[in-house]
Amino acid sequence: MLTVEGLRSAYGHIEVLHGIDLEVTSREIVTVVGANGAGKTTLLKCLSGTQSVTGGDIRFRGDALTTVPAYKRLKRGLSQSPEGRQIFTNISVEENLRLGAFLFTDDRVEKDMEDAFQMFPILREKRNLAAGGLSGGQQQMLAIARALMGRPHCLLLDEPSMGLAPLLVAQIFDVVKSLREKEVTVLLVEQNAFGALKIADRGYVMETGRITLAGPSDELIADPRIREAYLGI
Ligand code: ATP
Repeated sequence: MLTVEGLRSAYGHIEVLHGIDLEVTSREIVTVVGANGAGKTTLLKCLSGTQSVTGGDIRFRGDALTTVPAYKRLKRGLSQSPEGRQIFTNISVEENLRLGAFLFTDDRVEKDMEDAFQMFPILREKRNLAAGGLSGGQQQMLAIARALMGRPHCLLLDEPSMGLAPLLVAQIFDVVKSLREKEVTVLLVEQNAFGALKIADRGYVMETGRITLAGPSDELIADPRIREAYLGI
């Protein structure tokens, strides 16, 4: 579904991604874990087309993506739920969801909205209220639901657990896990390595712009290096 080879990116003259290789196959949940500043967000921005790439290749569903502008990547089925949620606070929950479906005018938009409300019942309750009035966890739910309204083949999720209380983190991770049944492939970037690896099929560990370890999630959770550096065990 998504193949990244030798990906490099820089801010000005400072390179922050030094040749990333990564693969996500259809219906997988793959996570990239790593400390603050490792380059996870930059990687996702390169994939969604909002950060320029200085080297390497991105392929999505068989096509070269590296030079395709961001809005066309969305049309091809690659959708991002950004770090910090970035919902539109002054408009209603429902209007935020409709914006996620801006590419479509067919009847399926109403069905997709219904699916979103089934996935997150609290959003139905608050559908007519300004999104800025939602709690942090509810805003995260809205950000994920809005990204799903774009009918992605692959969803890029940036730190969905950030700043949430443990109960909400568990709820968000459960929702991400349930996307597998909806046939949505997920690339999840997280500082919460344990939570992310628990729901993912495979994981990559990123350190200062490089992938330093990769493998099935259960193997990474059992790896003493990961346990010490990221799981605090
Ligand atoms: P976080 O969890 O804090 O988002 P991250 O792993 O996602 O961390 P990035 O945000 O991708 O890491 O940052 C990677 C490196 O690039 C860091 O050294 C960061 O300081 C730097 N960086 C990020 N954004 C910019 C920017 N707009 N201009 C300059 N440097 C940046």
